[in-house]
Amino acid sequence: MPIVSKKQGPRKYQEFTLPSQGYPYNGTIPGGKIKVHAFNFEVEETLGAKGDGQEKLNKIIPMICDLPEGFTVGKLLAADQFFIFLAARSMSFGETYNLSSTCPACGNIEKTDFALPHGLPINTMQPDFDGIVKLTLPESQDDIEIKFLTVADLKEVSTMAKAMNLDPTDKENPQAYRYTLASHIVSVNGGTDFNLQEAVEYLSSLDGRDPHVFKDTIDKNQPGVASLIDMQCPECGEQYQMQFKMTQKFFRP
Ligand SMILES: [Zn+2]
Repeated sequence: MPIVSKKQGPRKYQEFTLPSQGYPYNGTIPGGKIKVHAFNFEVEETLGAKGDGQEKLNKIIPMICDLPEGFTVGKLLAADQFFIFLAARSMSFGETYNLSSTCPACGNIEKTDFALPHGLPINTMQPDFDGIVKLTLPESQDDIEIKFLTVADLKEVSTMAKAMNLDPTDKENPQAYRYTLASHIVSVNGGTDFNLQEAVEYLSSLDGRDPHVFKDTIDKNQPGVASLIDMQCPECGEQYQMQFKMTQKFFRP
Protein backbone atom coordinates (compact mmCIF):
# COMPACT_ATOMS: atom_id res chain seq x y z
CA MET A 1 0.00 0.00 0.00
CA PRO A 2 1.45 3.41 -0.89
CA ILE A 3 2.22 5.88 1.87
CA VAL A 4 -0.29 8.71 2.15
CA SER A 5 1.37 11.98 3.10
CA LYS A 6 -0.56 14.70 4.89
CA LYS A 7 0.98 17.20 2.51
CA GLN A 8 -1.71 18.89 0.44
CA GLY A 9 -1.64 20.13 -3.12
CA PRO A 10 1.26 20.71 -5.50
CA ARG A 11 4.82 21.30 -4.44
CA LYS A 12 5.33 24.69 -2.83
CA TYR A 13 7.07 27.29 -4.96
CA GLN A 14 7.58 31.02 -4.99
CA GLU A 15 8.23 33.39 -7.88
CA PHE A 16 11.41 35.47 -7.76
CA THR A 17 12.93 38.01 -10.17
CA LEU A 18 16.46 37.10 -11.24
CA PRO A 19 19.09 39.85 -10.92
CA SER A 20 19.68 39.71 -14.71
CA GLN A 21 15.97 40.48 -15.33
CA GLY A 22 16.30 37.79 -18.01
CA TYR A 23 18.53 39.71 -20.49
CA PRO A 24 20.80 36.71 -21.39
CA TYR A 25 17.94 34.33 -22.24
CA ASN A 26 16.46 35.69 -25.51
CA GLY A 27 13.03 36.17 -23.99
CA THR A 28 12.76 32.60 -22.68
CA ILE A 29 12.62 33.85 -19.07
CA PRO A 30 10.58 37.06 -19.51
CA GLY A 31 11.43 39.74 -16.95
CA GLY A 32 13.72 37.24 -15.23
CA LYS A 33 10.72 35.81 -13.37
CA ILE A 34 11.29 32.25 -12.25
CA LYS A 35 9.60 29.80 -9.89
CA VAL A 36 11.88 28.50 -7.16
CA HIS A 37 11.28 25.40 -5.03
CA ALA A 38 12.63 24.36 -1.65
CA PHE A 39 15.47 21.81 -1.41
CA ASN A 40 14.17 18.24 -1.45
CA PHE A 41 15.49 14.76 -0.88
CA GLU A 42 16.99 14.59 -4.37
CA VAL A 43 19.03 17.73 -3.62
CA GLU A 44 20.26 16.18 -0.39
CA GLU A 45 21.37 13.02 -2.22
CA THR A 46 23.12 14.97 -4.97
CA LEU A 47 25.04 17.02 -2.41
CA GLY A 48 26.10 13.87 -0.59
CA ALA A 49 27.31 12.11 -3.74
CA LYS A 50 30.94 12.09 -4.80
CA GLY A 51 32.14 14.49 -7.45
CA ASP A 52 33.07 18.02 -8.37
CA GLY A 53 31.31 20.70 -6.26
CA GLN A 54 30.42 22.98 -9.17
CA GLU A 55 29.02 20.07 -11.20
CA LYS A 56 26.79 19.12 -8.28
CA LEU A 57 25.44 22.66 -8.03
CA ASN A 58 24.67 22.62 -11.76
CA LYS A 59 22.77 19.34 -11.35
CA ILE A 60 20.73 20.77 -8.49
CA ILE A 61 19.51 23.85 -10.38
CA PRO A 62 16.73 22.04 -12.34
CA MET A 63 15.59 20.44 -9.05
CA ILE A 64 14.99 23.82 -7.38
CA CYS A 65 13.58 26.00 -10.17
CA ASP A 66 11.38 25.78 -13.25
CA LEU A 67 13.54 26.34 -16.33
CA PRO A 68 12.05 26.76 -19.84
CA GLU A 69 11.93 23.70 -22.15
CA GLY A 70 15.36 22.79 -23.50
CA PHE A 71 17.20 25.31 -21.31
CA THR A 72 20.69 24.13 -20.36
CA VAL A 73 22.13 25.24 -17.02
CA GLY A 74 25.34 26.38 -18.74
CA LYS A 75 23.40 29.28 -20.27
CA LEU A 76 22.41 30.59 -16.86
CA LEU A 77 24.22 33.70 -15.72
CA ALA A 78 26.41 32.74 -12.76
CA ALA A 79 24.88 35.63 -10.80
CA ASP A 80 21.38 34.25 -11.43
CA GLN A 81 22.48 30.77 -10.39
CA PHE A 82 23.80 32.10 -7.08
CA PHE A 83 20.56 34.01 -6.53
CA ILE A 84 18.45 30.88 -7.18
CA PHE A 85 20.40 29.04 -4.46
CA LEU A 86 19.83 31.87 -1.99
CA ALA A 87 16.10 31.95 -2.83
CA ALA A 88 15.76 28.16 -2.51
CA ARG A 89 17.54 28.21 0.83
CA SER A 90 15.22 30.86 2.18
CA MET A 91 12.24 28.75 1.13
CA SER A 92 13.72 25.62 2.70
CA PHE A 93 14.93 26.84 6.08
CA GLY A 94 13.60 30.40 6.45
CA GLU A 95 15.11 33.71 5.45
CA THR A 96 17.54 34.12 8.32
CA TYR A 97 21.09 33.00 7.71
CA ASN A 98 23.85 33.32 10.30
CA LEU A 99 27.43 33.93 9.35
CA SER A 100 30.45 34.64 11.47
CA SER A 101 33.54 36.52 10.42
CA THR A 102 36.89 37.09 12.04
CA CYS A 103 38.33 40.60 12.21
CA PRO A 104 41.72 40.54 10.46
CA ALA A 105 43.08 43.23 12.81
CA CYS A 106 42.12 42.01 16.31
CA GLY A 107 40.71 38.49 15.78
CA ASN A 108 37.31 39.37 17.22
CA ILE A 109 34.63 36.97 15.95
CA GLU A 110 31.48 38.74 14.87
CA LYS A 111 28.19 36.93 14.28
CA THR A 112 25.80 38.46 11.77
CA ASP A 113 22.31 37.56 10.53
CA PHE A 114 21.23 38.09 6.94
CA ALA A 115 17.79 37.75 5.38
CA LEU A 116 18.15 35.70 2.19
CA PRO A 117 18.05 36.63 -0.58
CA HIS A 118 17.03 40.28 -0.25
CA GLY A 119 18.98 41.20 2.87
CA LEU A 120 22.23 41.17 0.91
CA PRO A 121 23.04 43.97 -1.54
CA ILE A 122 21.62 43.01 -4.96
CA ASN A 123 22.39 44.70 -8.27
CA THR A 124 19.41 44.17 -10.56
CA MET A 125 19.93 45.05 -14.22
CA GLN A 126 17.79 47.60 -16.08
CA PRO A 127 15.09 45.90 -18.21
CA ASP A 128 16.69 47.24 -21.44
CA PHE A 129 20.27 46.12 -20.61
CA ASP A 130 21.75 44.42 -23.70
CA GLY A 131 24.46 42.44 -21.89
CA ILE A 132 27.50 44.52 -22.89
CA VAL A 133 29.31 47.19 -20.86
CA LYS A 134 31.72 49.45 -22.78
CA LEU A 135 34.72 51.16 -21.29
CA THR A 136 37.83 53.01 -22.46
CA LEU A 137 40.94 52.41 -20.41
CA PRO A 138 42.51 55.71 -19.29
CA GLU A 139 46.18 54.84 -19.98
CA SER A 140 46.16 52.63 -23.08
CA GLN A 141 43.02 54.28 -24.53
CA ASP A 142 41.88 50.77 -25.52
CA ASP A 143 38.13 50.40 -26.07
CA ILE A 144 36.87 47.29 -24.33
CA GLU A 145 33.53 45.52 -24.27
CA ILE A 146 32.80 43.27 -21.32
CA LYS A 147 30.03 40.79 -20.53
CA PHE A 148 29.00 38.94 -17.40
CA LEU A 149 29.77 35.29 -16.98
CA THR A 150 27.54 32.29 -17.46
CA VAL A 151 27.87 28.93 -15.74
CA ALA A 152 29.50 27.64 -18.97
CA ASP A 153 32.02 30.53 -18.97
CA LEU A 154 32.98 29.73 -15.40
CA LYS A 155 33.49 26.11 -16.32
CA GLU A 156 35.89 27.08 -19.10
CA VAL A 157 37.78 29.37 -16.72
CA SER A 158 37.94 26.67 -14.11
CA THR A 159 39.21 24.01 -16.53
CA MET A 160 41.96 26.26 -17.81
CA ALA A 161 43.06 27.56 -14.42
CA LYS A 162 43.01 24.10 -12.83
CA ALA A 163 45.33 22.85 -15.56
CA MET A 164 47.78 25.35 -14.09
CA ASN A 165 46.92 24.40 -10.49
CA LEU A 166 45.17 27.69 -9.83
CA ASP A 167 41.81 28.34 -8.15
CA PRO A 168 40.07 30.97 -10.32
CA THR A 169 37.50 31.80 -7.61
CA ASP A 170 40.18 32.83 -5.14
CA LYS A 171 39.93 36.62 -5.11
CA GLU A 172 42.95 36.74 -2.83
CA ASN A 173 45.18 35.10 -5.45
CA PRO A 174 45.50 37.70 -8.24
CA GLN A 175 47.20 35.31 -10.67
CA ALA A 176 44.30 32.84 -10.42
CA TYR A 177 41.51 35.40 -10.30
CA ARG A 178 42.88 37.02 -13.48
CA TYR A 179 41.40 34.09 -15.45
CA THR A 180 37.95 34.98 -14.17
CA LEU A 181 38.49 38.67 -14.94
CA ALA A 182 39.84 37.97 -18.44
CA SER A 183 36.86 35.86 -19.42
CA HIS A 184 34.66 38.98 -19.16
CA ILE A 185 36.38 40.48 -22.23
CA VAL A 186 34.25 40.32 -25.39
CA SER A 187 36.28 42.67 -27.59
CA VAL A 188 39.33 44.93 -27.51
CA ASN A 189 39.32 47.81 -30.03
CA GLY A 190 36.69 45.91 -32.01
CA GLY A 191 38.74 42.71 -32.23
CA THR A 192 37.13 39.52 -30.93
CA ASP A 193 39.48 36.86 -32.27
CA PHE A 194 41.39 35.80 -29.14
CA ASN A 195 41.25 32.95 -26.66
CA LEU A 196 41.14 33.06 -22.86
CA GLN A 197 44.90 32.64 -22.50
CA GLU A 198 45.47 35.61 -24.81
CA ALA A 199 42.94 37.65 -22.84
CA VAL A 200 44.83 36.81 -19.62
CA GLU A 201 48.09 37.93 -21.24
CA TYR A 202 46.45 41.15 -22.41
CA LEU A 203 45.19 41.91 -18.88
CA SER A 204 48.61 41.15 -17.44
CA SER A 205 50.13 43.73 -19.80
CA LEU A 206 47.94 46.58 -18.49
CA ASP A 207 49.48 49.09 -16.11
CA GLY A 208 48.90 52.40 -14.37
CA ARG A 209 45.23 53.05 -13.69
CA ASP A 210 44.03 50.52 -16.30
CA PRO A 211 43.86 47.34 -14.15
CA HIS A 212 41.96 49.26 -11.47
CA VAL A 213 39.49 50.79 -13.94
CA PHE A 214 38.92 47.40 -15.59
CA LYS A 215 38.18 45.61 -12.29
CA ASP A 216 36.14 48.48 -10.96
CA THR A 217 33.91 48.56 -14.06
CA ILE A 218 33.12 44.87 -13.60
CA ASP A 219 32.45 45.25 -9.86
CA LYS A 220 30.20 48.29 -10.28
CA ASN A 221 28.08 46.80 -13.09
CA GLN A 222 28.06 43.13 -12.10
CA PRO A 223 24.51 41.82 -11.74
CA GLY A 224 23.57 39.79 -8.72
CA VAL A 225 24.05 39.48 -5.02
CA ALA A 226 27.25 40.93 -3.61
CA SER A 227 29.37 38.01 -2.41
CA LEU A 228 31.77 40.36 -0.62
CA ILE A 229 30.07 41.90 2.39
CA ASP A 230 31.37 45.05 4.05
CA MET A 231 32.01 44.54 7.76
CA GLN A 232 33.12 46.83 10.55
CA CYS A 233 34.60 45.32 13.69
CA PRO A 234 32.67 46.50 16.79
CA GLU A 235 35.79 45.97 18.96
CA CYS A 236 38.48 47.87 17.06
CA GLY A 237 36.64 49.64 14.22
CA GLU A 238 38.57 47.83 11.45
CA GLN A 239 36.71 47.79 8.13
CA TYR A 240 37.04 44.61 6.12
CA GLN A 241 35.19 42.40 3.66
CA MET A 242 33.78 38.93 4.25
CA GLN A 243 33.28 36.56 1.33
CA PHE A 244 29.91 34.80 1.28
CA LYS A 245 30.45 31.18 0.24
CA MET A 246 28.02 28.33 -0.24
CA THR A 247 29.60 25.89 2.17
CA GLN A 248 27.99 22.66 3.47
CA LYS A 249 26.36 24.69 6.24
CA PHE A 250 24.42 26.57 3.56
CA PHE A 251 22.51 23.41 2.68
CA ARG A 252 21.59 22.56 6.28
CA PRO A 253 18.79 23.99 8.46
ZN1 LIG B 1 38.74 44.10 15.25
